[in-house]
Amino acid sequence: MQQPQPGDYIDIHVHDGKPAAGIFILESLMAHEEKMPENKTGVTYTYGIHPWFLNEENHDRYILKVEKLARLPFIIAVGEAGFDHLKGPSAELQRRSFEEQIIISEEIKKPMVIHCVRGWDELFTVQKRFKPKMPWLVHGFRGNTILANQLLSKGMFLSIWFEFVLRPESAELLRALPTDRLFLETDGADVDIRQIYKKVATDLNIEVDQLKKVIIKNFNTFFGI
Ligand SMILES: [Zn+2]
Repeated sequence: MQQPQPGDYIDIHVHDGKPAAGIFILESLMAHEEKMPENKTGVTYTYGIHPWFLNEENHDRYILKVEKLARLPFIIAVGEAGFDHLKGPSAELQRRSFEEQIIISEEIKKPMVIHCVRGWDELFTVQKRFKPKMPWLVHGFRGNTILANQLLSKGMFLSIWFEFVLRPESAELLRALPTDRLFLETDGADVDIRQIYKKVATDLNIEVDQLKKVIIKNFNTFFGI
């Protein structure tokens, strides 16, 4: 398994990632794509069914792909998977797909990366029912402090949405949260992860080097390293 090196920035959620010196990425591969993971320095992968690209016709085929590919050694998590009530198929199908991916995650003992838009109640319900042993990371988080604390109290890790992080008002949320389950991401957008770290370090009144250490530690905790 590729692992971040001391001093690396970690971009925990990327699409179409390009390796760059000093930046360790977790690239999200999705079952509707043909792209396969490669053994490249500084890159590691998740594999799952994104709710946007799911339908009744493709679901069973995609689940078989996740079953097979998520076991590959370069793939270290299942997802992104979850709920999106602004886009994608019926809530029923989204839930079925998410639950089947949780079963895979638990079976192969790899954590889950979650995409969740307006589906928090369902996320909590499913978590309560499955009581997963593998940790869950909610990526692209853009909610308020109350919701963040709710997710944290249920053991989840949070990666904050890049656009929100760069706004001045995110300082309040960042300061209110414990840093031991925090991640940062670009989501493959045209934004520099180093700029995101700089903003967050300033908000937290710590050095970027300190923030790098915190996030590497979180990575090791999340992936059981
Ligand atoms: Zn994504």
